[in-house]
Amino acid sequence: MVDKTVEALIAILGVEKVFLPGGAQYNASLSSYFSPQAAAVHPACFVAPQSVADVSAVITSLTSRNSHESHDFAVRAGGHTWFSDANSAPGGVTIDLRGLNSIKLSADKSTVSVGSGATWDAVYSQLEREGLSVAGGRVAGVGVGDLALGGGISYFGPREGLTCNQVTSFEVVLANGSVVVADEKQNADLWWGLRGGSNNFGIVTRFSLRTFEQGLLWSILTLNPLTEVDNQARIYGEIMAADNYDVNASFLTGWVFASQHGVSATLNQLIYTRPAEGETPAFYKPILELPAVSSMSATATVANMSTIAQNAVALQKPQAARYMTATTTFVPTEDMIRATYEAFSASLSLVQGVAGIMWAVSIEPLPPQIYKRSGADNNALGLSEHHGSLAIGLVSPSWSDAGDDEVVYGAARSLMADIENRAKKLGAYNRYIYLDYAAPWQEVIKGYGEQNVKKLQELRKRVDPGKVFTNMVKGGFKIPEEGH
Ligand SMILES: Cc1cc2nc3c(=O)[nH]c(=O)nc-3n(C[C@H](O)[C@H](O)[C@H](O)COP(=O)(O)OP(=O)(O)OC[C@H]3O[C@@H](n4cnc5c(N)ncnc54)[C@H](O)[C@@H]3O)c2cc1C
Repeated sequence: MVDKTVEALIAILGVEKVFLPGGAQYNASLSSYFSPQAAAVHPACFVAPQSVADVSAVITSLTSRNSHESHDFAVRAGGHTWFSDANSAPGGVTIDLRGLNSIKLSADKSTVSVGSGATWDAVYSQLEREGLSVAGGRVAGVGVGDLALGGGISYFGPREGLTCNQVTSFEVVLANGSVVVADEKQNADLWWGLRGGSNNFGIVTRFSLRTFEQGLLWSILTLNPLTEVDNQARIYGEIMAADNYDVNASFLTGWVFASQHGVSATLNQLIYTRPAEGETPAFYKPILELPAVSSMSATATVANMSTIAQNAVALQKPQAARYMTATTTFVPTEDMIRATYEAFSASLSLVQGVAGIMWAVSIEPLPPQIYKRSGADNNALGLSEHHGSLAIGLVSPSWSDAGDDEVVYGAARSLMADIENRAKKLGAYNRYIYLDYAAPWQEVIKGYGEQNVKKLQELRKRVDPGKVFTNMVKGGFKIPEEGH
């Protein structure tokens, strides 16, 4: 039976934009999430706005009902956050932004205006026709929406900065239904807060992103035997030092245990964004000289960003397996890389019995070249006060059976705690927790630092005094309450 909230939404939007349980469009919406955990959340309805006016009408309707009649709601863009409730409201209303997917280059080509429901691969494809790109996500299907609101790690990051810092303006629907623009001049506090503040202030309907000229990228995946870990740690520690980091490089390293193949190995993903024709980037020579697990290492390719993003989907297909991520941040010294490997190694006993487990830990560069670039003070992440290179540690396992979820979550949690303890002992710990990789138990916004939390609380009082996006939008990472 359709309740009054849903009836009101149908009256406002028309039946074609409200998807009810049992319908083909409702089922298609469920199957469009990346993780099976997110796809298992069943809202009372999905609504599919096609314009900013639709979004405003939906918010106005949802917030104007008596509290006993109102529904919680959730906002989704690309649907790539893995945990249930982040991007769908159980028994509530899920606002699916995928209809807002326009991509329009400015007349002078310096910015591109992107609807929040677009995916990064679509943005790349369009810009490549002009020899341009933006600093966005690395895998096709990931949404512009949250990646740009949570920080945003891109292959172009060291050269261009975090994705959130590329946003020259946001168009936002606030809790009272009003549509505002936030940029350097208007609502500058909101412009700052949305760069890291995710879904705490409103629904972003459009992003203007800075563009840059871009040709083909060089990339390779390599696997080394675990006997090379000491060399891996030495090389990574050396080239991650801020003075040595090459801004055209995006060097991810880590380890993987794949039960299906019975293999454990070091996995490196090497990207170079301004390759010289026919040459292997010198920056990567030391790592490429290590002995490889030859049958599994790929050969280098040179391709555009949209092709790389499309090819990356094959590594982890949507809903092919259960999935999660959790994260931590540390200084990537040689000792810390070795300590992270030791923590990975110790954690294997916790997951070896899990059916279909792929237990992957990766270390992603966060040199100051990324976090200090493009107006680093103009975001809420609290990174600009740091100096020197940081790295993001990520655990991103996949596995077969829902019955093993808690085992895997528990193992990831204890692995993160182990890495953090080792980092504290080595003086390499950093409190920052990257929102877009975080697990639901992690206190992301607290990690932005006390001063920024206070500023975010003040901003919330101004733009959402009724705390609609805190209390009615329960999923995602919330600004801590005053006094906590
Ligand atoms: C396969 C894969 C590849 C990835 N690659 C990268 C990568 O290269 N770089 C990187 O940094 N991260 C990456 N991530 C992590 C990714 O950034 C996060 O999962 C992010 O949440 C994806 O954004 P989305 O729009 O798809 O999120 P959704 O799941 O749709 O939304 C996530 C959260 O953001 C909120 N939200 C979304 N859109 C809006 C909006 N317009 N207004 C207000 N709130 C909104 C939602 O309410 C929700 O809480 C990857 C994840 C996966 C699964």
